[in-house]
Amino acid sequence: MTARRKLIAGNWKMNGLSAQLGEVSAIAQLAAGRSDIDVALYLPATLIAPAAPLAGTVLIGGQDCHQEEAGAFTGNVSAAMLVEAGARGTLVGHSERRAYQQESNTDVAAKAARAHAHSLAVILCVGETLETREQGDEAAHAWVVEQLRASLPEGASPDWLTIAYEPVWAIGTGKVATPPQVAAMHAALRTALVEALGEDAGNVMRILYGGSVSGDNAADILHTANVDGALVGGASLTAAKFAPIVDAA
Ligand code: PEP
Repeated sequence: MTARRKLIAGNWKMNGLSAQLGEVSAIAQLAAGRSDIDVALYLPATLIAPAAPLAGTVLIGGQDCHQEEAGAFTGNVSAAMLVEAGARGTLVGHSERRAYQQESNTDVAAKAARAHAHSLAVILCVGETLETREQGDEAAHAWVVEQLRASLPEGASPDWLTIAYEPVWAIGTGKVATPPQVAAMHAALRTALVEALGEDAGNVMRILYGGSVSGDNAADILHTANVDGALVGGASLTAAKFAPIVDAA
């Protein structure tokens, strides 16, 4: 079996002012004791520069970057801007951006490629809606695999790309996919990665689970086959809530 190092990543979404920077320092302390796993925080763009010097081994990332290098895209943040602020990575294709900013798979692939061109590590998010899940497991697998294929950037490599499976119905709802549901979806995604990238890269690329992960369910999720870590929203906002998830990894 391929050994993949676990990654515990927090996504603060549109939460956090400078008053919360103490949580970044506290999470950096948690991570400092864990040389066996990777820890990352995806922060609002305004917190990246002040957080970067506090982060220690924690990778600080943005939550999106625009697919173009620069230009007339009011309100957007470019990959170069993230790098200048001190980010070492970014999320792309989070379901909230796909839903509220109408980002397509083509946009997501272009964002990932642009981020990589600036040497940012990328987490590419995929996941089905409740409507698709209710059509059955096979339909959900086919839908998410197709979303992954269509969102994968040219030259995708586990050196810089990680996949996050985040069922939309589990994000921020307190409903967690069951370990068998997660195992089956991750197996389907693993097969798709091997087909798209070849045996070596496809088996080494990390696949995270995200969707209402907490200290209560992290151990079950993180010990499920093909789960290489977690992308955590609400429970990453404080070190106290994040700590049991890091401990479970
Ligand atoms: C997320 O934002 O990616 C997420 C998984 O959120 P939550 O953990 O709050 O469901």
